Amino acid sequence: MRIGFGHDVHKLADGVPLVLGGIEIPSRQGLAGWSDADVLTHAVMDALLGAAALGDIGTHFPPGDPRYKGISSLKLLAKVGDLLKEAGYKVGNIDATVAAEQPKLAPHIPKMREALAGALNCDVDDIGIQAGTSEGLGFVGRKEGMAAWAVALIKKI
Ligand code: MG
Repeated sequence: MRIGFGHDVHKLADGVPLVLGGIEIPSRQGLAGWSDADVLTHAVMDALLGAAALGDIGTHFPPGDPRYKGISSLKLLAKVGDLLKEAGYKVGNIDATVAAEQPKLAPHIPKMREALAGALNCDVDDIGIQAGTSEGLGFVGRKEGMAAWAVALIKKI
């Protein structure tokens, strides 16, 4: 077994949808980025790639590459799943946390878990997600952006 850790941050902006954990969440503001800026899924991808020492998402899906402009991060996550498989690994389990001052994310967590498990072709029970605020502190607290962290355990096939 091997473990990996991932972290990501994206800015909040007007006029873009909020996509977290592969699902669109009603919100006045969304996250800005080259892809759909799904900060939670990006942290999960980096945790998985890190666990297999396969680099990071910037290496595999560089921002600025027109192939990834506005792409659903679930598609990128599925590609990470393929890369893991090619390297001889399968997902053990993943645990991720997202920090967002608003909107309330807890009601959306079951669907996020399903979406991530679907992209990785693993069990929903292998995906844990927590959501919290930053108690008004820092860039998350000022509603300038959102942050996410993830750990992933992978197993040799
Ligand atoms: Mg990102």
